[in-house]
Amino acid sequence: MKVKILILAVATLLFVLSGCDASDSSPASFTRTEFALGTFVTVRIDGTSGKDANQALDGTFARLSEIELTASTKNHGSELSYVNQNAYERGITVSEELFFLLESGLFYSALTDGAFDITLGSVVELWGIGTDNARVPAPDELAEALENSGFENLLLSAENRTVRFLKEGLKIDLGALAKGYAADEMKRVLLENGVTSAVLNLGGDIITIGDKNGEDWLIGLADPLAPGESCAILRVSGLAVVTSGNYERYFMHEGARYHHVFDSQTGFPAESGVVSSTIITDSAMIADALSTAFFVMGIERAVEFAVSIPDTDYVLIDGGMNFMCSENINLEIIK
Ligand code: AMP
Ligand code: MG
Repeated sequence: MKVKILILAVATLLFVLSGCDASDSSPASFTRTEFALGTFVTVRIDGTSGKDANQALDGTFARLSEIELTASTKNHGSELSYVNQNAYERGITVSEELFFLLESGLFYSALTDGAFDITLGSVVELWGIGTDNARVPAPDELAEALENSGFENLLLSAENRTVRFLKEGLKIDLGALAKGYAADEMKRVLLENGVTSAVLNLGGDIITIGDKNGEDWLIGLADPLAPGESCAILRVSGLAVVTSGNYERYFMHEGARYHHVFDSQTGFPAESGVVSSTIITDSAMIADALSTAFFVMGIERAVEFAVSIPDTDYVLIDGGMNFMCSENINLEIIK
């Protein structure tokens, strides 16, 4: 199972970069890849204002390590893991960074009416998707995990930066937010280091800086039916492009696919009809939260919801490979 997931992650990574390379006639770029937040993270710098690109790469990956220590649930020594073990009944004071992530997570959980919900940690843990222990839980286990979820059970106090859980079994999972936040922060560090043209790929969460030799960056959207290939090409400059897909992490059981994005109403992998949901906007963190939310909402609800969110574009794909897109995007469907 582990090997299969790694191969899928590599496949996704490669096709996105080859999408960017499709119009490549630029001089040498600087590229570095590391494994963090459970995925491969690649930064490719194509232009700086004369500053050292390697120094910019050092700085941006150092920032990524800091965020991992704050927000990862996979790292048992992270600040978030400490909160998950200790925030029931007594409030825990947390770092400014974690508080910002929890506040943002709670905001988008409420805004999307729980389609995106950072308190699904117990449900995520129970299914174990992406681990060696992935399995379909028994109904009573699932009922208990759902009972221990719900963003109304997460209390934040901005005054003294405290976090408190109202349920003993509640667990926060920032898996649908932290990669996007890391992308935004890594981009900020690159900009501070004089980078003028770059593309960052955090396991399929893409963020760009500037353009590429005066042309838009070409971002390949994974084909949900053949994730190593692109089914469409997006053209963007300076924006983030984040996708949630049912092909990213999953396991098969008795012929059925169980993927990693959960419906907070049922505790099961969301079956809304959407198999791939992409958000295009300035902030990768917001794109990350909304791509998950749109995936869970399904096309009708997501399209209606999108009207209330300014400066945000989307591409939704259903199981029949039908595309539903917002008006202002530059998208070429190639399959
Ligand atoms: P993404 O790939 O951005 O859609 O994030 C999926 C990851 O976020 C999963 O691996 C879980 O850790 C977590 N997650 C799953 N379902 C949800 C949900 N409905 N809301 C928030 N986070 C979720
Ligand atoms: Mg997401």
